[in-house]
Amino acid sequence: MHNTGANPELIDRLVLANRILYDQGVVDGLGHVSVRHDSQPGVFLLSCNRAPGMVVRDDILSYDYDGNTVCETSERSYLERFIHAEIYRARPDVMSVVHSHSPSVIPFAATRTALRPIYHMAGFLGCGCSHFDIRLAAGNTDMLISSSQLGKSLAESLGNSAVVLMRGHGSTTVGTSLEQAVFRAIYAETNAKLQAQAKNLGEVEYLNDEEAKLASDTNDGQILRSWNFWKMRVGPI
Ligand SMILES: [Zn+2]
Repeated sequence: MHNTGANPELIDRLVLANRILYDQGVVDGLGHVSVRHDSQPGVFLLSCNRAPGMVVRDDILSYDYDGNTVCETSERSYLERFIHAEIYRARPDVMSVVHSHSPSVIPFAATRTALRPIYHMAGFLGCGCSHFDIRLAAGNTDMLISSSQLGKSLAESLGNSAVVLMRGHGSTTVGTSLEQAVFRAIYAETNAKLQAQAKNLGEVEYLNDEEAKLASDTNDGQILRSWNFWKMRVGPI
C-alpha cells in the first residue's frame, strides 16, 4: 500500500468505485474517479495510471491541487489528473469527481445540446449541465486535460453544475460524496441514451426544475441501495 495516510475504508470505497464504473459501462481502459482525502486538506486520492476495472488498493495515490503526488511512489500518473485537482480547488462542495468517455454523452458535447432530465433518476441534471470546448481555451490540442491551466479552464466551464460535457472528448461529473458522483456518472450516461431516443420519437417533455429537484433529493436518500447492488456485482476487491 502507498502511504497516503487515508482511512483504509475510504481506499476500499475508491477501489470499488473504479470497479463499479467499469462494470456499469461508464469507463473502459481509460477514465478515472477520485475522492477528497479524509484527513489532509488540499489532497485527493486517485489511482495510478491503471485501467479502472483493474484498480487495487495498492494503486491508490494521493495528490495535491497542482497534480503532484503527495505520497512516495514510482508509479505513473494519469495524464488528466488536473481535471480532478482543479475542480477540487474551485469547488469546495465537491467531494468526488468522475471523468469518463462514456459514449452516449459524446453527441451532446459535439452539438452543444443540453443534457436535460428525461426521468427521475437524472433529476440532478435539472440544475443544468455545462459545456467545455478545449479549442476555445487552448487552440488545437490532443483534446486531453493535461495541465493545470487546462484543468482550470474546465473547472471554470463546470461552474456550479454537476456535469460538464467536453467536446470531442467525454464528460466530467461531480458529487458531494463518492457514491453520489458514481451514481451521477452512471445516470448521466443513461439519460443521454434515453434523451437521444426520445428526440427521435417527437417533442420531449422533460422534468421541470421543481420535479428535478424533488426527484434528486429523493434519489440522494436511495443511492446506497444501488451502490450495494453494484458492489455485489463486482465481487471482492
Ligand atoms: Zn479523458
